[in-house]
Amino acid sequence: MKELKIKSTLQVYESLDKLPDEVQELMHQSFKIRDKAYAPYSRFLVGAALVLENGEVVLGNNQENASYPSGLCAERTAIYYAGAHFPDIPIVRMALSAKSLKHQLITPTPPCGACRQAIAEYELKQNKPIEIFFMGELGKVIRSYSLANLLPLIFDKSYL
Ligand code: ZN
Repeated sequence: MKELKIKSTLQVYESLDKLPDEVQELMHQSFKIRDKAYAPYSRFLVGAALVLENGEVVLGNNQENASYPSGLCAERTAIYYAGAHFPDIPIVRMALSAKSLKHQLITPTPPCGACRQAIAEYELKQNKPIEIFFMGELGKVIRSYSLANLLPLIFDKSYL
């Protein structure tokens, strides 16, 4: 038996204002779209703002459903829109923010496992890293230079 150790390195910023202007601007767009989320069941609002290589910004938020699995997360709402409308333009970065209507969320909230898998598909497709920033409503922001950092042992087409 051999042990396999997996290492990920993320950067933690104390607050959004410590980040470059273009990242702050993208995160502010995620705040705006987050507040339009349809989340009557979880009361947990998530916003995703993606910027593409051509400067286009694509926004998404979570869309819930009374039949819970039929809903969709903000990250996939945005990335599938980007995939549908701009199939050949790489995604440069994503800014994600979450807010609970039940308590103040100050913990950076990463994408769920299903979204990590979805983002991985696009990162592999474009063969360029997608930089990801995520935060709660306030407080610290975490940066990952690539989705691969958030999803070790990615399942991809090479296994098919
Ligand atoms: Zn998700």
